Amino acid sequence: MNHYPEAVVKLILHLCRLPGIGEKTAERFAMYLLTAPEQEVAALGKSIAELQKKVKICNTCFCLSDSETCRICRDSARDHSLVCIVESPADMAAIEKSGAYPGVYHVLQGLVSPMDGIGPDEIRIRELVKRVASGTVKEVVIATSTSVEGEATADYISKSLKPYSVKITRIASGVPMGGELKYIDQVTLKKAMEARRVL
Ligand SMILES: [Zn+2]
Repeated sequence: MNHYPEAVVKLILHLCRLPGIGEKTAERFAMYLLTAPEQEVAALGKSIAELQKKVKICNTCFCLSDSETCRICRDSARDHSLVCIVESPADMAAIEKSGAYPGVYHVLQGLVSPMDGIGPDEIRIRELVKRVASGTVKEVVIATSTSVEGEATADYISKSLKPYSVKITRIASGVPMGGELKYIDQVTLKKAMEARRVL
């Protein structure tokens, strides 16, 4: 890599830090950007620079949003008494794509994982309990993955919500063991949502 000018080396090193990008790919990106139309490179640079400033976290469901409250939470056509609990914005996007879900969401931003030192206070469970305690939620569907951490999180949530008069359901099997929601096909996900069981 040292045979490149410093600016190129710097870019390659930055690109290498992205998930799934090795040195070869980073090198290809850098070479492309060197010869790409100036406008295109400027637009890419701008969208990267603005990303963290422009993207907000919804104050209700904690998904990624353009505004303080996200589009789904503002939508009066959705069933606000039905809340689906997911690990990440990517899982929420997967359920949205399946088109089978009429309710709203709660994005935990992680899973309980004692091995990694992530306890319930590190993710958005307290906010969930508060949301349920406010009394507008009739059912929560726990749609965390079927991994050890996903199941532990589901258990913890169902225990935390027991004192409240809310129906607690778990997304059905069909989601493969250890399976991550975002990699599951939309038909399977739709079926799993429809066949959710009461915890
Ligand atoms: Zn929201």
